Amino acid sequence: MNPDLRAIARLRGEPGFDEAVLATSFGEEDPGVRPHALVRARSAADVSLAVLWARGRNWKVACCSGGHAWSQNHIRDGGLLIDLSALDGIAIDPVKRSAEVGPGCVSGDLDAALSPHGLFFPVAHAFSVGMGGFLLQGGFGWNSRMVGLGCDNVTGADVVLADGMLIHANHAQNEDVFWALRGSGTGFFGIVTKYYLALHKRPGFTGIKMQVFRLRHLEKVVRWANEIGPQISSQVEFQMVVNRRAFGIFSHGIEIVTPVLAESRPEAKELVAFIDNGPLRPAASLTLPLIGAPLGSIMKVAEKIIFPTGTRWHADNVWLDGPVEQVIPVLREAAETQPGAPSHILWLNWNPAPRARDAMAFSIEARTYLAFYGGLRGKKWQPSDRDWATKAAGSLMTNSVGSQLADENLLRRPARVLSEPNLSRLEALRTQYDPARRFFSFGGN
Ligand SMILES: Cc1cc2nc3c(=O)[nH]c(=O)nc-3n(C[C@H](O)[C@H](O)[C@H](O)COP(=O)(O)OP(=O)(O)OC[C@H]3O[C@@H](n4cnc5c(N)ncnc54)[C@H](O)[C@@H]3O)c2cc1C
Repeated sequence: MNPDLRAIARLRGEPGFDEAVLATSFGEEDPGVRPHALVRARSAADVSLAVLWARGRNWKVACCSGGHAWSQNHIRDGGLLIDLSALDGIAIDPVKRSAEVGPGCVSGDLDAALSPHGLFFPVAHAFSVGMGGFLLQGGFGWNSRMVGLGCDNVTGADVVLADGMLIHANHAQNEDVFWALRGSGTGFFGIVTKYYLALHKRPGFTGIKMQVFRLRHLEKVVRWANEIGPQISSQVEFQMVVNRRAFGIFSHGIEIVTPVLAESRPEAKELVAFIDNGPLRPAASLTLPLIGAPLGSIMKVAEKIIFPTGTRWHADNVWLDGPVEQVIPVLREAAETQPGAPSHILWLNWNPAPRARDAMAFSIEARTYLAFYGGLRGKKWQPSDRDWATKAAGSLMTNSVGSQLADENLLRRPARVLSEPNLSRLEALRTQYDPARRFFSFGGN
């Protein structure tokens, strides 16, 4: 083995190998399988070398950046795992309003680097999510209803292909690869070693408005959320979170959580006034005033509360467009069977603005995003809790238009994650760029 590669490789069976593989994952679940080897890349050149090494041994290749895929898609049975977390550089050009970031850079670090320049990128909601996987699958980030998905704001990328070559892909060169890397997520046929991003002016105010209901109000809260969704400003994210230890009431309830990004506090207050003035306010256990805070602090605190470390996560999701009445019984059942906190159900009024999105692999979105996060901690959970998210999302398959790759669960439940024409194009490109199927793809292949 090349000595440069040997210095950053660990082989299965070596002391500490299992721990090193599991440490690449945000989730605590042990998927029970292991790659043949793990390489911790420090540069694009390391990635090329590692891909060529795997090729020489006829191994498949998986990679990870921030390790936040709920399905732990990167830990496969056999093959080579390339860990890109050390490729975490950030270079900002404030004049051009652009940035170059390594895939291992995490959302909160990018936001913190942009803030002093008064610049903004729709990074993921939780601080520690890796930009590598986040941008590849689409990337529903902060203010994405306003400024687009993360991948809408990618202007180029450096990619190592199955033959070990490092290429640049953008609108003008390797357009096919550029098309694919915006939305194919775990189905991408290459490894991104750097992203080139377009930046936005930073909103002057960031805050959150919250209202909390007891679970007995579920049906009317859902009907209300569904009805008002299309009228809510794109600067506001309307989320409903159902969990067994809802904020302030410490029992089974529904938290209405509405982040708002605006130019000023008065503007933000106006944008979330529909909550104070809503018809359900008398039924609410709690309606908090709008709380302003720096985005970085919100990201850190929210992650600690909603996604505590040391949790075995099992998530799944559906995009919904159909009548809400068909969904309500499933939601009720999912709420009644949900494991203890931090497990939760997320209802997001996505209501995509009719915008001219570039042609790209990302192709499924709908009025409502519904995701189930089973978070199992300590000894309290039952084996059936493991299947809760899969079961709940699966029972909405016929009502859904597909699933989002962000919270994918394709190793456990096949789902439609790209439109038919885009999936066909992606598979044709895979045959062209990765004929030997060197890279692991969606689900089990
Ligand atoms: C706490 C938490 C909060 C989240 N919040 C959001 C959110 O607000 N919005 C949202 O859209 N999603 C969110 N997600 C989902 C998250 O964006 C996806 O799981 C994403 O894939 C994570 O990226 P990663 O690099 O951290 O993950 P990884 O597990 O490292 O990567 C996931 C997969 O992407 C592929 N991949 C990763 N990096 C590369 C690369 N450089 N080149 C090629 N392929 C690569 C691999 O197939 C890998 O298995 C969240 C997840 C968690 C755990």
